Amino acid sequence: MDNVRAKKHLGQHFLKDETIAQKIADSLTLNNYSTVLEIGPGMGVLTKYLLDKKVDTYVIEIDTESVEYLQAHYLKLSNKIIEKDFLKYNLHETFKDKPFAIIGNFPYNISTQIVFKTLELRDQIPEFSGMFQKEVAQRICATHGNKTYGILSVLAQAFYTTEYLFTVPPSVFNPPPKVDSGVMRMIRKENYTLPCSEKLFFRVVKTGFQQRRKTLRNSLKSIGISDDIKQLDIFSKRPEQLSVSEFIDLTCMLEKNSIA
Ligand code: SAH
Repeated sequence: MDNVRAKKHLGQHFLKDETIAQKIADSLTLNNYSTVLEIGPGMGVLTKYLLDKKVDTYVIEIDTESVEYLQAHYLKLSNKIIEKDFLKYNLHETFKDKPFAIIGNFPYNISTQIVFKTLELRDQIPEFSGMFQKEVAQRICATHGNKTYGILSVLAQAFYTTEYLFTVPPSVFNPPPKVDSGVMRMIRKENYTLPCSEKLFFRVVKTGFQQRRKTLRNSLKSIGISDDIKQLDIFSKRPEQLSVSEFIDLTCMLEKNSIA
């Protein structure tokens, strides 16, 4: 069977470098799960290294042409190819309540949405690793005070320990993307339950960063800051100055002093 034709609207950039594929597959620790789901396997450059491991490998792929290619080349995958849109598919249909790791050389056009969906399903996902455009991988791993630190960093790091692993140049893809890529890994924290309302936490982080240059006193007005705490120093800060644990403390405080 012929190679798959790269389709731009599906974010298809096929990795040509086997060493890098192996390194990405090896970034999984295989701790605390025995199942892995690869998002966007394409022609299976990464999949074949996963199939060599002691882990039950599933793939989810939206592109029919890629699915046909995988069916023809990786008999070991057999009925573990899910031909669906990762963002729309209800993963319980395949995995029930079983934990699974996520891996991939992800489609860059939907990369942040992949991370947000993972965060929603965090109870079932102990580990997540793979390749994004470099800037997104850096954002997920950035600490406070950095230019790329933002919503994605705080939300991911509230539940996961994130680690930027290595950079990959455009030349190892076909067709080459316009930007560098970066491989990162997130390992779920042992205690990842927040001491505050998680819903309020997401709201505080998103609202705070919507207006990056404003103080939190200004940007969090819509959430309601009671007069008792309004003068505290933390509200004179801008969102990128707050560490993840300070965002959690802030949420706890807003919750206790709610004026709503
Ligand atoms: N992992 C392969 C392909 C990377 S390109 C490699 O490294 O060569 C990204 C892949 O994600 C493509 O195969 C594309 O078809 C697939 N994809 C794009 N959007 C998707 C979605 N919403 N759900 C599942 N797969 C998707």
